[in-house]
Amino acid sequence: MAIPRSVIDLWSSRPTVEGAGVHLRRAFGDVDSRLDPFLLLDDFGSDQPADYLAGFPWHPHRGMETITYMLEGRVRHGDSIGNRGTIGAGEVQWMTAGSGIVHEEMPEAGPRLRGFQLWSNLPASNKMVPPRYQGIAANSIPRLQPVTGAVVGLICGRLFGASGPVEGVASDPLYADIELVAGSVLTVPIAADHNAFAYVFSGSGTVGADNRAVDERQLAVLGAGDEVALRAGDKGLRCLLVAGRPLRESVAWGGPIVMNTQAELRQAFAEYQDGTFLKHGKQPE
Ligand code: FE
Repeated sequence: MAIPRSVIDLWSSRPTVEGAGVHLRRAFGDVDSRLDPFLLLDDFGSDQPADYLAGFPWHPHRGMETITYMLEGRVRHGDSIGNRGTIGAGEVQWMTAGSGIVHEEMPEAGPRLRGFQLWSNLPASNKMVPPRYQGIAANSIPRLQPVTGAVVGLICGRLFGASGPVEGVASDPLYADIELVAGSVLTVPIAADHNAFAYVFSGSGTVGADNRAVDERQLAVLGAGDEVALRAGDKGLRCLLVAGRPLRESVAWGGPIVMNTQAELRQAFAEYQDGTFLKHGKQPE
């Protein structure tokens, strides 16, 4: 028998200024055992270039992963392992910082920018792996139609007999973009040993066994179970559904670097200061 998950906490994303002055909304950005291994989810969307053009100039990451998913607009990026390019509408960049990467993420001016950045923690055993970058084209993301009125863009994980293109991630995550037309219902299986959340970014509806009402730009933390029901309201509903196996390790988090101990965190910042931070690649000019 399937065990339906309920919404155990619910809140709205909050206006935040990040990077060199990017105005965005943060759905979460704290250590929360119910969201482990995920650390942060930012929702950036604006039709005012002044809100985002300052971007995220060169900065380091270690011990974690950043997952950028764009719906509209473009972000130019470059990194210390030689990647250069842009992330456009419908595309995903899954960046495993591992032992260290230095990168920049600079939104380009356009009529509108909309996208998300999720941070996922790495287990102690993987914090110092070589940095890895997976760039995913829009047409390699399966668009599943498990029931009438539902479209599931599967970025990572296995669902309804399909697999997402992002592979080899330590916490075995599910990352799906789920769109439901007004009044439709979709029940999504989620591994019982994973933590999970749904972030509604368009429309509204109800989520979980208790039919909890979830509005646009609200984050619903899901409780125990092995599936979740999503029901669209009369304007339809579109959400990110994300799940991952919790690490249950101590977290020492300082800005873009996430280690297990304060000593490891101090060492990372000391290395960044003295030029020994990067174990692979080279400091961009
Ligand atoms: Fe970054």
